[in-house]
Amino acid sequence: MWLQRVLTGNYAARPLNRDFPVSMKDKNKLLRKLPKIDECLARLEEHINQHDVPQLIAKKAVQQSVEQLRNALLNDDPVDVPDTLAGWDDIFKKRIEQLMALNLKRVINGTGIVVHTNLGRSLLPVHTIKQLSMAGACYTNLEFNLKTGKRGSRYSLVEDIICDLTGAEAALVVNNNAAAVLIALDTLARDKEVIVSRGQLVEIGGSFRIPDVMKKSGATLVEVGATNRTHLYDYEGAISECTALFLRVHTSNFRIIGFTSQVTAEELVGLGAKYDLPVMEDLGSGSLTDLSKFGLPPEPTVQEVVKSGADVITFSGDKLLGGPQSGIIVGKEKIITRIKKNPLNRALRIDKFTLASLESVLRDYYDQEAVLTKNQTLRMISESPEIIKKRAQRFLRRSRAKIAEKCSLKLVSTISRVGGGALPEYGLTSWAVELQPAATTVSRLESDFRTLSVPVIGRIENDRLLIDFRTVLDSEIPELCSELITYFE
Ligand SMILES: *Cc1c(COP(=O)(O)O)cnc(C)c1O
Repeated sequence: MWLQRVLTGNYAARPLNRDFPVSMKDKNKLLRKLPKIDECLARLEEHINQHDVPQLIAKKAVQQSVEQLRNALLNDDPVDVPDTLAGWDDIFKKRIEQLMALNLKRVINGTGIVVHTNLGRSLLPVHTIKQLSMAGACYTNLEFNLKTGKRGSRYSLVEDIICDLTGAEAALVVNNNAAAVLIALDTLARDKEVIVSRGQLVEIGGSFRIPDVMKKSGATLVEVGATNRTHLYDYEGAISECTALFLRVHTSNFRIIGFTSQVTAEELVGLGAKYDLPVMEDLGSGSLTDLSKFGLPPEPTVQEVVKSGADVITFSGDKLLGGPQSGIIVGKEKIITRIKKNPLNRALRIDKFTLASLESVLRDYYDQEAVLTKNQTLRMISESPEIIKKRAQRFLRRSRAKIAEKCSLKLVSTISRVGGGALPEYGLTSWAVELQPAATTVSRLESDFRTLSVPVIGRIENDRLLIDFRTVLDSEIPELCSELITYFE
């Protein structure tokens, strides 16, 4: 079966012993050598075992292969055209393999960024994956009340758990935290004004900007204070008959340092009580554990913000929480009930896979000790440098002798990041293997690693490629070794 492995190499990159650019006459000769699509398809049918290759893929492979070579010729790129139809077999096979391979692939995360948005943020523990496959393979009581035999609510599966863990009166889960902010603002402040501190108008990667979300929700932003300092009297002075809400936003991915001052949740809640205005907090990462136990700088926990009396709080399910992509909204029952009834809720609702995995991940938090090892995100963040170093050493023991001639490998101390906008200025002490290839450039190595059958994503620092072992799993070491050994062979 030649369809099993994924090869992403580019056949057109074969070096040739011909001088370029070729003359117009030669070029036309080469262009005439390109085969007809129908001939190629007939050849595929006859000579290549293509049981599992759908006709559409075969045709696309042939067209793309011929097209790529034609373009290369027209651009005077150094490529050769096979002399016979049989000479195209390997080209077609490779192209078919590429087209048949799934687009979503696993990668090895050697960046050291734990909550890496581009690499899928949080990893789920094995017992959660089981629940996830159950939800895919079987019918479930997603919206079916097993006691009454009547229609149930999908949110009831997690709402009580979220309330237990956060101390909130009520909860709701939507597609992500951006959606949570949107639906909360739309419900509470459409056509009204929302007062926000100027120092909290954040942009999160992936084009989430508080002022833009605000506009979309139909609410009007009223900025108060200065970038570095906002006082309670700034909020109070901005209140008008159109004011609907005070909003605090956790400045996830940046810090203003120096002469600064922000109003606390408690103070704002006090002001809200005086004027009968609700207070909302977009917490961003939303941790359910106190990170200072790992020696990390304290981030406000969801529990603390609930305790402060805020009326509605939103946070991500797949940042520090370590669950699936989702946006969790907790708060006062009266307000959550209004949000639940917003028609946007139907549009932003989570699917059964999110619910299945979120419930499982949340249940782990009932045991605040065990969750530190069960939850993959918390485990990676809290893992000690000594253990990471041992993992890196295990990789070196297995691979160094076989790679050393082509690439120098060095164990180095490095700094990993939590990612996902959490604790932006805080580095976690970690260990990495530093690679310096003998015959190629570091940037070439970095891009080649991305095309391995299990792509390895590293980080370039000071003209060296680093693989940070904080985010490499124990179980990935054998594969990482074999991928790199094969690459350097
Ligand atoms: C990350 C973040 C968001 C967006 O959350 P998603 O779950 O990525 O949609 C919104 N607000 C803050 C403060 C954040 O940190």
